[in-house]
Amino acid sequence: MSDIRSMSLTELEAALKDMSQPAYRAKQVFSWLHKQKILSFDGMTNIPKELRAGLAAGYPLYGCEIRNKQVSKLDSTVKYLFELHDGELIESVVMKYKYGYTVCVSTQAGCKMNCAFCASALGGFHRNLSAGEILGEIYAAENDLGITVSHIVLMGMGEPLDNYDNVLRFLRLVTDENGHNISMRNISLSTCGIVPKIYDLLNECLQLTLSVSLHAPFDELRSKIMPVNRKYGIDELLKACREYAETTSRRISFEYAMLGGVNDSDECARALAKKLRGMLCHVNLIPVNEVKESPFHPGSPEQLKRFSDILEKNGITVTVRRKLGSDIDASCGQLRLKHTEGNSV
Ligand code: SAH
Repeated sequence: MSDIRSMSLTELEAALKDMSQPAYRAKQVFSWLHKQKILSFDGMTNIPKELRAGLAAGYPLYGCEIRNKQVSKLDSTVKYLFELHDGELIESVVMKYKYGYTVCVSTQAGCKMNCAFCASALGGFHRNLSAGEILGEIYAAENDLGITVSHIVLMGMGEPLDNYDNVLRFLRLVTDENGHNISMRNISLSTCGIVPKIYDLLNECLQLTLSVSLHAPFDELRSKIMPVNRKYGIDELLKACREYAETTSRRISFEYAMLGGVNDSDECARALAKKLRGMLCHVNLIPVNEVKESPFHPGSPEQLKRFSDILEKNGITVTVRRKLGSDIDASCGQLRLKHTEGNSV
């Protein structure tokens, strides 16, 4: 049985019709779930008691329970460890920017992708999150902080395109005008490059920002640090990206984690510029965040500047990602499962 927060308004209408309810009931229930963000059928005060009981008997309503919360002393970034209904643990991060709050959500418990520099894969893959569970991360954080987020990044644990159907359902739900009603333009989805799914997403023609974790301009190097590259190589990936940008007219954002002495040479910068020439895109350089178990370090600020200058000289727009929440391990690639007893996350 589907959890009720994963159901679209149309599906809810059909379910309520089967329970001999008028159509407007679905909108009321949907609003309780996605606007008031409540977690009990009892709280739905304009719904008849009997119907509440019927819904409760038929549909699970799962929440995210806050198991741990850390607030950065440096920039007020908040990192949550949430427990799902079956005991799975996931992490989400809320960041405050001038334009509002951004939440970084996880789409899977664990990850299969095994990127060499990323902490999320260290605990292995556990399971996909449902659309309702991904929404649950946002609602739990909003309820806890008393805020409404305006931007969402699918950049937490997991590979969104490896959980394609649930992620697409999540995107439709969170942008529904009868629900949270976030603009698709305020959502970024980050992928390590599962090419067939990029084409599937392209066919949806959504106005979201596609971020692609590139991290290297050469197949040999990229395959070493990102095993997914052995299946979908750089040229195939960039071809899909070009088509994506052309079809949607949305600029692709390439993520490039600077791994000192590994992928930050002048030669890499020149090769990257050549590969991206003429594409509607920009490059986001991220000094790699250190993860205890991995050997990578961020390299020197001078080399970061040289790398960035080479890209710019070749006509590529570059930004360097600001680090938020660095005192609470809330930066990119640091979200992970920590099960060990007594180990505070
Ligand atoms: N699976 C998706 C979503 C993860 S998003 C993807 O690969 O894009 C997290 C982003 O942080 C990705 O760009 C990822 O490559 C990057 N990342 C992972 N570990 C990192 C680290 N230690 N330092 C900096 N960036 C990292």
